[in-house]
Amino acid sequence: MTEGKGSADTDRGGAEVFRGSFTQQEPIPEAGIEAALRVMRSGRLHRYNTVEGETAEAALLEQEFAAQTGAKYCLAVASGGYALACALRAVGVAPGDRVLTNAFTLAPVPGAIASLGAEPVFVGVTEGLVIDMDDLAERAAASGARVLMLSHMRGHVCDMEALMQLCADRGITVIEDCAHTMGAAWNGRPTGRWGAMGCFSTQTYKHANSGEGGLIISDDAQAMARAVMLSGSYMLYGRHLAAPPPEAFETIRYETPNISGRMDNLRAAILRPQLGDLSRQCARWNERYRVVEEGLRATPGLTLVKRPEAEGFVASSFQFLLLDWGAEAIRAVLARCAARGVELKWFGAPEPVAFTSRYDSWRYARSAPMPATDRILHAIIDMRLPLTFSLEDCAQIARIIRAEVSAVFQGDLAAPEALRMGD
Ligand SMILES: *Cc1c(COP(=O)(O)O)cnc(C)c1O
Repeated sequence: MTEGKGSADTDRGGAEVFRGSFTQQEPIPEAGIEAALRVMRSGRLHRYNTVEGETAEAALLEQEFAAQTGAKYCLAVASGGYALACALRAVGVAPGDRVLTNAFTLAPVPGAIASLGAEPVFVGVTEGLVIDMDDLAERAAASGARVLMLSHMRGHVCDMEALMQLCADRGITVIEDCAHTMGAAWNGRPTGRWGAMGCFSTQTYKHANSGEGGLIISDDAQAMARAVMLSGSYMLYGRHLAAPPPEAFETIRYETPNISGRMDNLRAAILRPQLGDLSRQCARWNERYRVVEEGLRATPGLTLVKRPEAEGFVASSFQFLLLDWGAEAIRAVLARCAARGVELKWFGAPEPVAFTSRYDSWRYARSAPMPATDRILHAIIDMRLPLTFSLEDCAQIARIIRAEVSAVFQGDLAAPEALRMGD
């Protein structure tokens, strides 16, 4: 199957049903397929397996992504989660350290922190679906944490000037999780370029697709030299095109363990044409987002997320809130939309389902209850917007959600007892 595009249809009652697949991405561009075939025919898939005069695809990918984001250095690695853990090690996080991170994020983020034997300290989320700065200040003071792993979760970018100031004032190093913000910016400066290191994922569901993969960018020569050694460069870092100069490795090369997690040339070959086309793809995602947003505007009971002027977002997914709805009513909306082909995810579900997760389901990282954050998480409904959906598909999806949210909100299920909070 190469096209997941939906087609309109109706159920027995005559209501329209969406037939597209929310998990179907576009095919790899032909240029990527051809480049991948060249790598496979050469047999030299390992990034350091080059012949005289040859430059590895992985090195070229790093050079191009550094140029694209304006970063001095870039390193390609095995996954987004590996990028996060590698960045934490590179800035010196040690076992037992506490690391601040978003309560609204996905499992690989606290998982990366835990993989170092460090302890996640969760920070609350606002109605705008970004990190709560007041809560951040409080938890930073209470925990004494010196590192923030900032997750631009679902592509929502906080006020980065305010965040960087808050962290600078407290001596907190920021690492950005840009798994959902490749191509996005705040006030024109790309995400990943604000903190000490920026980490990206090229896993299938993100903005570039190599199955698995990750990228780290930074302007910090010491931290990046450590990251390169950590990723498993042995003493071959001189073959990189976007790594710090040899001087930066002088002592680091002896002191840094090899925690193997390189990217290979096959994935790099697949990614290079995709990154070249990124801004066009981002514009296509946002066109789809705006159609859904327009279609849901002024739906009774439904709260849209306000996107600030300074936020140059890339909307590969869509979120809305059913604020202060009861669990039963939310489940009714999900079931009714699912029956019409619209696959919604609920971040508030008490048990983690599929990719959906919340801070209190990661029991290895205990957190005190966060009532203000619980109210938001309970309200978040999420869906993917793959580029295989047409604009008409998006309009149809919005019509279905609008109809079902309205029906539940205005119908029996919205009776006061059903709307009460809690399960
Ligand atoms: C996917 C994802 C990651 C990790 O990326 P992988 O490449 O799957 O390891 C990190 N953070 C967030 C928010 C993600 O969605």
